[in-house]
Amino acid sequence: MGEKSKTSGEDGEKLASDFFNLIGWNANKKGLSIPCSDSNHLNKDGNSRKTHGVDILFPAQSWENPQDFVHHLISVKHTIKPYVKNLSSKFNEFSSDIQEALSCYKRSSVSSNYSKGKSRIENIKYVGILFWISEYLSTKESVLEGISSSRSFSDSKFDGFYVLDNRRVHFIRDSIKFAKTDYSKTEFVNINDSSSLDPADFNTSSTVMPAALLASNVIPFKSTCLGRVDKLINR
Ligand SMILES: [Zn+2]
Repeated sequence: MGEKSKTSGEDGEKLASDFFNLIGWNANKKGLSIPCSDSNHLNKDGNSRKTHGVDILFPAQSWENPQDFVHHLISVKHTIKPYVKNLSSKFNEFSSDIQEALSCYKRSSVSSNYSKGKSRIENIKYVGILFWISEYLSTKESVLEGISSSRSFSDSKFDGFYVLDNRRVHFIRDSIKFAKTDYSKTEFVNINDSSSLDPADFNTSSTVMPAALLASNVIPFKSTCLGRVDKLINR
């Protein structure tokens, strides 16, 4: 049993790293241990925590809004079984964990070191991501309907909170595959710039996917092959 969960954890980490590398997020800060500074944060045995685990951390200056430095805290939950029936309760448990980790991360020296020395930074932001995948990837199942009314969304201490389930991960992977089928060089477009979906409005683009696109039903790309600019939309 222990061995099985270990394997599941390792598979989850690999799936998550591959996914975040695919969207241009450098997923090399993995398995971090953040000191806990709040005695109300308890572990599973009911004792005060000493540390919080952060599965993947992606701290980066935003290219869409260069005045923002964003810490993306990613929690990876991978199961070898189908998704549980009681999604809300599981979601509340997972999101409480990541929110507690966030509050201690904000106070830690780890977080302040990343933005040190960066120019033009006016805001420090925190985005939480729950990468929640079941073994049955091919089912493209979604957990989002089951948790949309969950309390933890509205209580979130994050500047943004995203849930990536099987369906979202499939959609984003397929969109990137779709874009790369005909175009070798593609970049993500800032969705705030592209509400009209007119290529003329696609001023800024990057190989790093904006976090807002993680929840979007439209993934706009810009292709700059052969000196021509095309727009590619997958929805
Ligand atoms: Zn803590």
